[in-house]
Amino acid sequence: MTVDWGYEESNGPSVWPQFFPQAAGSLQSPVNIETTKATNDTTLKSKPLYWNYSPDICKQIDNNGYGWKVQVYDDGDGSELSGGPLGHKYKLEQFHCHWGCTSTKGSEHTVDGVAYAGELHLVHWNCDKYNSFYEAIDHPDGLAVVGVFLKAGDKCHQELEKIVSHISQVALRNQSAPIANTIDPAALLPEDVTYWTYHGSLTTPPCSECVTWIMFKNPIEVSERQLNAFRSMRMKTPEECSEPHGGPQLVNNYRPPLPLGNRVLRECGAM
Ligand SMILES: [Zn+2]
Repeated sequence: MTVDWGYEESNGPSVWPQFFPQAAGSLQSPVNIETTKATNDTTLKSKPLYWNYSPDICKQIDNNGYGWKVQVYDDGDGSELSGGPLGHKYKLEQFHCHWGCTSTKGSEHTVDGVAYAGELHLVHWNCDKYNSFYEAIDHPDGLAVVGVFLKAGDKCHQELEKIVSHISQVALRNQSAPIANTIDPAALLPEDVTYWTYHGSLTTPPCSECVTWIMFKNPIEVSERQLNAFRSMRMKTPEECSEPHGGPQLVNNYRPPLPLGNRVLRECGAM
């Protein structure tokens, strides 16, 4: 069954559970991070988060109708995420972003009720236990997603600019472009490695509860011009776009927070 889910009223997050039962689960993401409720877990510090991305693993950028996505080489070889809350080794599969129509919203996770202008997700799968990304999403320890908040500021983010430079080539849904420059995923992370972690789900259908979330506390700064480039993307395919401007803007591609419930939110390091 192919369901044309999206972020409109008719096909948005509130109706996803009708088509994707896991979206009604009790371990869903994103959540609102209540900073005073986070448990400082010293065991996280004793096993530092480790990542290594070889610089030439980013292959292609796509507009999948839900945003832009950078796909890495098929098996993610040359990438590794481990340590911290993770009991296994994970490989990078892809990274993508969520953003708002203005900079007062756009992130999926919120911090004490406040949203950032956007949120970057680096999606990794457990290559110790599973043979592929698709096998991994059926298991609670299948994925590890690193989340980075985008804060709108004056400064343009250099590494993100490499993605911005390809946006006009993937303005419409189903358009793809090869990545010309080397993009270093590590350069999209903030310098300060303090984070919150909890167990949750994919924030897009099928909303599988297979994700160890690692949310960096500190945002990266990006410029309004860079955010506007993302906002200039469109949700429709070239065939669906007879209008010269290419149909509705691709904005507000975020799922609102869901209850943390009985889950424990742990933190590593103070702000
Ligand atoms: Zn995402």
